[in-house]
Amino acid sequence: MASIKDCDDVARETSSYVRPMHAPVCKVLQMRVIIIGAGAIGCSVAYHLAMDGATVTIVDPEGLMGGASLASFAWLNCHDKHPEEYYRLVMRGNAAHRELGETIGHANWLRLTGTLEWWLAGTEKAQAHAVRLERLRSYGHSMEMLSAEEVLALEPDVSRVSLEGCEAVYYPTDGGVDTVVYRHVLMREAERRGATLVEAGVENLLVSAGRVRGVSLLEGGELEADYVVNCAGRAVNVIGRSLGYALPMEWRPGMTVITDVTRSNVSRILKAPDIYIKPEGAGRLLLHAKSADEMIDASEGPDAGQAGAAEIIRLVEAVLPTVREATIAAVRVSVRPYPTDSKPVFGPITGVDGYHLAVMHSGISLSPLIGRAAVEEILHGRQSTDFALYRPERFSAGEWESSVGLSPSTGGEMLPTRI
Ligand SMILES: Cc1cc2nc3c(=O)[nH]c(=O)nc-3n(C[C@H](O)[C@H](O)[C@H](O)COP(=O)(O)OP(=O)(O)OC[C@H]3O[C@@H](n4cnc5c(N)ncnc54)[C@H](O)[C@@H]3O)c2cc1C
Repeated sequence: MASIKDCDDVARETSSYVRPMHAPVCKVLQMRVIIIGAGAIGCSVAYHLAMDGATVTIVDPEGLMGGASLASFAWLNCHDKHPEEYYRLVMRGNAAHRELGETIGHANWLRLTGTLEWWLAGTEKAQAHAVRLERLRSYGHSMEMLSAEEVLALEPDVSRVSLEGCEAVYYPTDGGVDTVVYRHVLMREAERRGATLVEAGVENLLVSAGRVRGVSLLEGGELEADYVVNCAGRAVNVIGRSLGYALPMEWRPGMTVITDVTRSNVSRILKAPDIYIKPEGAGRLLLHAKSADEMIDASEGPDAGQAGAAEIIRLVEAVLPTVREATIAAVRVSVRPYPTDSKPVFGPITGVDGYHLAVMHSGISLSPLIGRAAVEEILHGRQSTDFALYRPERFSAGEWESSVGLSPSTGGEMLPTRI
């Protein structure tokens, strides 16, 4: 089934990967791996496995233009990640984007702009921010308190009124990802090493004698493999159902709006009290607001994000008056792949061979680390210490079972995206 190739580095150990999953061998199999889902996670897994010699097939009916990755705000930040080991994991993920860029030769998906955040002083929310900042200080996080005048000196388009009575902070190490470019670059590099993107939907896993041996396709036909990685995001359980497992997931729809060209000169990511603003180049802005997420109406089909988009435009005008009457270029609506404890899920399922799950929120930040961990675990049989705390089996049997059959919490429903 699999061919053999010489490999000098089978016994190579690095400081971050220490626990062998099986006894070292002198040869590694050139594995055929199927990756279900070409979101940020699937593309990173495809890239890293292909770079390490695997024969990779990535399957997604939307090609490189689907999933939460398209609708994401894609912000690399660590403002509210806790406990500390999770904060440090996400910080390593953010740094891994830069390292990936060095390996590929450029990181044109990455913009390390820093973030400016402000909120109304003397409120209950301000107290919560004070607790959060204290925690970040104790982690040694890089940040600087600013006055309103200092914010205006950095971002002169921000309305002075929106800063009145506010406290502000600058996080210099933050950045953002252009997920369309990111996925394309990863896939292009993977294809250069023989990977294939199949634009089709996976219907089910092919399982025999406790081992996953491939997938069947919704369009008909089957694909065989030595290993299957489920990176289907929100649809993780639809594909895993033949194994009798369903990961406990929360229903968390979210949306972003991209404006057409605006009169704006925003250089950094802005987190104002009610709206998140990210410069997207050429005067365009990527916008997100929690209040808009709450307005998403799945029953409206392609118009699910219409009310939220109007809310977002209203909110951005209050912060950046020069973008008044901005034209909307795209409204993107999706459901976050959100395990109920909000932490990533990465690893095999006990009792099932040839199969890994990789599903998470903050997946843009974590995707380069997930790719590296997939190489260690799937190709080299070594456990990744990065994700040791985030295995599927941390959920009790009751939690797995209780989520089976519930809708929409276990469904693969993706809200349609309007571009
Ligand atoms: C509004 C919003 C804001 C966010 N902000 C941030 C942020 O600032 N920072 C951050 O790090 N994260 C953020 N996230 C979360 C982040 O976007 C996700 O964690 C990440 O995109 C997950 O990537 P993924 O590849 O696991 O899933 P997805 O991007 O959802 O990809 C899954 C893919 O699987 C495919 N698929 C589904 N079913 C099948 C099937 N049957 N067969 C084959 N393929 C299938 C889908 O078409 C899709 O392309 C945000 C998410 C949203 C919605």
